[in-house]
Amino acid sequence: MTLTDLGSENPLQAFDGLLGAGRVIPGGTEASAYLRDFSWYSPVLENALADTTVDAVLRPTSVEELRACVATAARLGVPVTVRGAGTGNYGQSLPLQRGVVIDVRDVAGVLEVAPGRVSVLPGTVVKDAEDAALATGQELAVMPSTYRISTTSGFVSGGSGGIGAAANGDLWDDNILAVELLTVEEEPRTVRLEGDDVRPVLHTYGTIGVLTRVEMRLVPAHDYTPVIVAFRDFPTLAAFAFDLVAGDLHVRLCSVHEAAGAAMLTPIASLYEAGEDVALLWVDSGDVPALRDRVAAAGGRAIDWTAKPHISQFPFSHTILWARKAEPTSSWLQCEYASDRAGFLTQVAALRDRYPGVFLQHVEFATSAGRTRPLGITPLVGLGDHEESLEELITFCRDLGLIVMNPHSYVVEEGGFVGDTAQVVALKTSCDPFGLLNPGKLGDSFFTSRGLTPPSTRAAATRRGR
Ligand SMILES: Cc1cc2nc3c(=O)[nH]c(=O)nc-3n(C[C@H](O)[C@H](O)[C@H](O)COP(=O)(O)OP(=O)(O)OC[C@H]3O[C@@H](n4cnc5c(N)ncnc54)[C@H](O)[C@@H]3O)c2cc1C
Repeated sequence: MTLTDLGSENPLQAFDGLLGAGRVIPGGTEASAYLRDFSWYSPVLENALADTTVDAVLRPTSVEELRACVATAARLGVPVTVRGAGTGNYGQSLPLQRGVVIDVRDVAGVLEVAPGRVSVLPGTVVKDAEDAALATGQELAVMPSTYRISTTSGFVSGGSGGIGAAANGDLWDDNILAVELLTVEEEPRTVRLEGDDVRPVLHTYGTIGVLTRVEMRLVPAHDYTPVIVAFRDFPTLAAFAFDLVAGDLHVRLCSVHEAAGAAMLTPIASLYEAGEDVALLWVDSGDVPALRDRVAAAGGRAIDWTAKPHISQFPFSHTILWARKAEPTSSWLQCEYASDRAGFLTQVAALRDRYPGVFLQHVEFATSAGRTRPLGITPLVGLGDHEESLEELITFCRDLGLIVMNPHSYVVEEGGFVGDTAQVVALKTSCDPFGLLNPGKLGDSFFTSRGLTPPSTRAAATRRGR
């Protein structure tokens, strides 16, 4: 139901009274700024989400106001979509069924820093949590490359990993220690989840509950130096990077780019030569001499980071931003390569052979329970008919043994969902009994609702036909 369907003289007044003037923005021009995110990375999603609308945007400034907004929405029976900084890549924060968007950025603040843990309000910018940790000699175990603007609750609900993953793993590696959430009921309850119980809220696009507190894992802080490593053979660089992350030097970030993609990182591309494959590394400053020795021994060269922009402006999904700027018709894919060295290198070689100049390999690394996991966030350039050729490419990757996380869907289960569906559904049913939270994002199919065949069905049909 939308607010205008309710028929009362001005249903927005219900929220005005809670939040005060200027903190309830009616649907229209001003509210449209809250209907954008980074789903335009995908030409498919850009089209699908072009007509998104909202009845009102609510901007609470405290957990109490947030609770009042949720209670009122539940009483009125209108959909609620929570939003942080709107940097999500899959339309997570865009409402599919109007209702209210709640912007939590002003429900912010660091609550406590303790050994191994920082506790914050949901709208706290990730960098503020990192800065508070640094002041105590600690750092976030993992944070998104958008940490300067994105919120902690947006990261937990919409992100997956990022800077620090090379050393400490991603969201699912016990890096989110606890959360508190509000249920979407007329009398919202506060539910605290700790340890493995946190998993259903990770990367489930704010469909389970409204986060009011996030507790993130801290590790001892290091002093870091950014270094670029260049080789003239991508498989050699890929092998070097795999060994580096699996080895004894402390690496917070290892972002590997095939030459054609490296050339698209325009603010730093003059630091290396055309045709060089590069890794952007953020390593413990004390490990730089050993790194230089290893690079030289492997036949590469280490380059000082003399560029003005911070290294965080280039890895993870930032790479796609630069690729889309350089090649506006390009698209992208997310995938996970094999975590054994030989399997990874076989996949790297096969992708180069089959899709030269199209699948521009860009690999980030995560270390999960001692396992080195190469993660592809891949610019795709020059795919003819996007839908069909993309499907063919996805099938090729899956046949090679890569796990594909399709970034062209706004539905949780069709993207990078990790976890136990039954556990997610059980918590969803108890915390959002009327199905008001971000409807259409969980338990749906983007592809079916758009009249498209879901890729898994298509891939299965292809396999059967062989
Ligand atoms: C250039 C670029 C680089 C990126 N790099 C990374 C990266 O390194 N790692 C990574 O994981 N992601 C990355 N992303 C994706 C995204 O930036 C991150 O996931 C980010 O942390 C999202 O935070 P946000 O505040 O912008 O959330 P939003 O986009 O506003 O929201 C994300 C999701 O969280 C939900 N949500 C927000 N607050 C709450 C709440 N209080 N309760 C319940 N649900 C809530 C929203 O409903 C939505 O579903 C990148 C994106 C871009 C554009």
